Amino acid sequence: MQAFQQNYQRNYYRVCNMLLLALALFGARTALAADDISLRPIKVSPHVYYFQGSAGMATAANKGFMSNAGFVVTKDGVVVFDALATPVLGGAMLRAIKKITPLPVRRVIISHYHADHFYGLQAFKAQGAEVWAHENGRAALGSDLTQERLQQRRKDLAPWVNENTQLVPADRWLNFKDGKVMPFEMGGIHFRIIDSSGAHSPEDIMLYVEEDKVLFAGDLFFTGRIPFVGEANSKVWLEALDRMLEVKPALVIPGHGKMSSQPMQDMQLTRDYLIFLRKKMGEAVADMVPFEEAYAKVDWAGFAKYPAFEQANRLNAYGTYILMEKESLEKP
Ligand SMILES: [Zn+2]
Repeated sequence: MQAFQQNYQRNYYRVCNMLLLALALFGARTALAADDISLRPIKVSPHVYYFQGSAGMATAANKGFMSNAGFVVTKDGVVVFDALATPVLGGAMLRAIKKITPLPVRRVIISHYHADHFYGLQAFKAQGAEVWAHENGRAALGSDLTQERLQQRRKDLAPWVNENTQLVPADRWLNFKDGKVMPFEMGGIHFRIIDSSGAHSPEDIMLYVEEDKVLFAGDLFFTGRIPFVGEANSKVWLEALDRMLEVKPALVIPGHGKMSSQPMQDMQLTRDYLIFLRKKMGEAVADMVPFEEAYAKVDWAGFAKYPAFEQANRLNAYGTYILMEKESLEKP
């Protein structure tokens, strides 16, 4: 009996060791696969490039590459806007940038602290880049929601998001109290950071590259399609759109989807749509018509022809209905 037990235990350990070895090999394999991700930047103007993620949600199949990020090459170094959705993608961005210029990435500016835009940061931090973000990002980063999202992504996006994925805070939290625009210069290129906080998230910022007339707009701009409104505040968003229009960019790079070379037209679509949503849902709230009934009564024909209408419109309308209820309660 004892001999059997010893034998059993020995076999048990052997099996365990084999399993550990298999796991280690598997780990090495996935690490190798991670390094295999290569990103191809799209050049849009003399100094500006961007990476365009695939459409849709972040999944293990697309390795989390469903958002955009970009970079600007100056004579003194590189400014990066957003860091994509995983540390591996951040590393892939760095390798792609190295193929364009030997200059280091000196600064990474984060549009907002949503998982798909900043999980790549740790790769840039490891190379000594300085991270800038809106000061409201500090609270967002420390929130339960952000922690829950990380746990969720560790499950859904494994191995691309895993135990080693860290939430990186900014080195400089930007304070916009003295006005809405924060200019800076690097290597002869002039930048403007535009505060649009409270529109899509409490910490939204946009980045404008003056010499190239390119605007990085984060999640406040959608090219030729119905925007995803979700829980965004359309009132603040409309104000942010006005600030975008003032800048008169020639090109706009959104947080998702393709770049726009006719941004005025695309901004007009988002503007018209948000105004329409607010008007229709606002009327329903004022008349105390329940959402379902109000939604069915609206003639959506003016917007139904645009991409993403099917997927986004109902949720957008619902989010706006809730917002209009809130706004009506705030009125004296
Ligand atoms: Zn977002």
